[in-house]
Amino acid sequence: MHAKQGELFIYNSLSGQKEKFVPIHKNFVGLYVCGPTVYNFVHLGNCRTFISFDLVYRYLLHLGYKVRYVRNITDVGHLENDADEGEDKIAKKARLEQLEPMEIVQQYTLDFHDVLQKFNNLPPSIEPTATAHIIEQIEMIKQIIQNGFAYEINGSVYFDVLKYNETHPYGELSGRKIEDLIAGTRDLDGQDEKRNPLDFALWKNASSEHIMKWPSPWGIGFPGWHLECSAMSTKYLGDHFDIHGGGMDLKFPHHECEIAQGCASTGKSPVNYWMHGNMLTLNGKKMSKSTGNTLLPNEMFSGENDQLQKAYDPTVVRFFTMQAHYRSTLDFTSDALNAAEKGFERLMEAVSSLEKLPTSEQSSVDVSELIANFYSAMNDDFNAPILVANLFDAVKFINSIKIGNASISKADLKELTKEMNAFIFDVLGLQTISAQSNTKLAPVMDLVLQLRQQARENKDWTTSDQIRDGLASAGIVVKDGKEGTTWS
Ligand code: AMP
Ligand code: ZN
Repeated sequence: MHAKQGELFIYNSLSGQKEKFVPIHKNFVGLYVCGPTVYNFVHLGNCRTFISFDLVYRYLLHLGYKVRYVRNITDVGHLENDADEGEDKIAKKARLEQLEPMEIVQQYTLDFHDVLQKFNNLPPSIEPTATAHIIEQIEMIKQIIQNGFAYEINGSVYFDVLKYNETHPYGELSGRKIEDLIAGTRDLDGQDEKRNPLDFALWKNASSEHIMKWPSPWGIGFPGWHLECSAMSTKYLGDHFDIHGGGMDLKFPHHECEIAQGCASTGKSPVNYWMHGNMLTLNGKKMSKSTGNTLLPNEMFSGENDQLQKAYDPTVVRFFTMQAHYRSTLDFTSDALNAAEKGFERLMEAVSSLEKLPTSEQSSVDVSELIANFYSAMNDDFNAPILVANLFDAVKFINSIKIGNASISKADLKELTKEMNAFIFDVLGLQTISAQSNTKLAPVMDLVLQLRQQARENKDWTTSDQIRDGLASAGIVVKDGKEGTTWS
């Protein structure tokens, strides 16, 4: 790492503090993020979390680390209400739509990939699925039983939370006390086969009508939801790795159970830094599939939702998510999105003018300090909104140079151009809008400009002016030059 880059600090949900980031292996970082349960379209809230961790991934790469980024796809075992009872979310959708569960999985995995690509998220290094890791999950259960932290009953296996808590602090991640957790559970009503209501399923016996099931040493069944992430992170990152992320709502029970499963199977706490992203809210409430309080990314891009005044480019929506730190809530409003769009345009205008900027003998501001501020923002627990504010300090400086109120040396301009481009495009993952929409607009523009050309050849100035003015009001500028007509 270069000295100018400084030191990275990460807020660790486990300790409740910002800690200096020290990777387990010198230049290698293992990063695991819980992926979606693919039984529905991803909403903008889900996307916020995945964009937040894309920034983490991108910044680690920018700092020069080799990162193995694992993000799973949950395609079995996630039961309704995140509980140990009820129908599998994917099986239920398959039943309602009269499809194979794997057709549901395929449909929503494709949607997830398509949406994240539009947001310019980098793909993870490995994207494992739960159904492809049944053997690894069974092996982990065997290990937990052997270590005395799980028991089998009627073909199901449960994690023994009270036994575990005798030697390990169950609840350490979410700040829960076992006594409070016990007080909060209902009494066993004789129907429940668990020894204690706090126990959670590692393997569930499958009834005959259950669709997704596999043979195991305990009979035909399926794995518990929390287990897949433990099995897959251990397989690809080892039993003790650097960073584990996910949305805040996964802290308990999902991540608490992952810690318990890791400690109970390998004897090691699985993760060094636990990171949790906060929620995107809509109308003041968490955006959520189950309540229907959602906005879908494709609705944003087409403008087809009553909550929206117009359509927004994916990169503008991405930029909007950077208006709040990942650990703070972010409320969706059209006004906030419109403001983000204006800010985005100002930023792009400034960065595109860098190459034409006049240079002087000396710079009128300390450019290395401007750049150091980009790093210190991201080093402070990936503080994207502060980085954006610091980039706007640079924008102000650039705009002052343009009107002759400030100056920059050639060497400083070269450095500023390099770092601004790196932070805007590589770290924040923003894209110029024209690069995205030109491919869609190009054939339409060819046609429109052809019609304008015909009108001009016919000396039909009214039509040709009408076309030019109409395009101008849509934000498209047409220029006639020696090499023909161009537009931007
Ligand atoms: P799910 O498919 O519901 O398990 O969610 C996938 C990811 O999106 C998880 O990391 C969730 O914590 C996260 N998530 C769900 N709802 C929201 C929201 N409203 N805002 C931010 N992240 C969310
Ligand atoms: Zn998970």
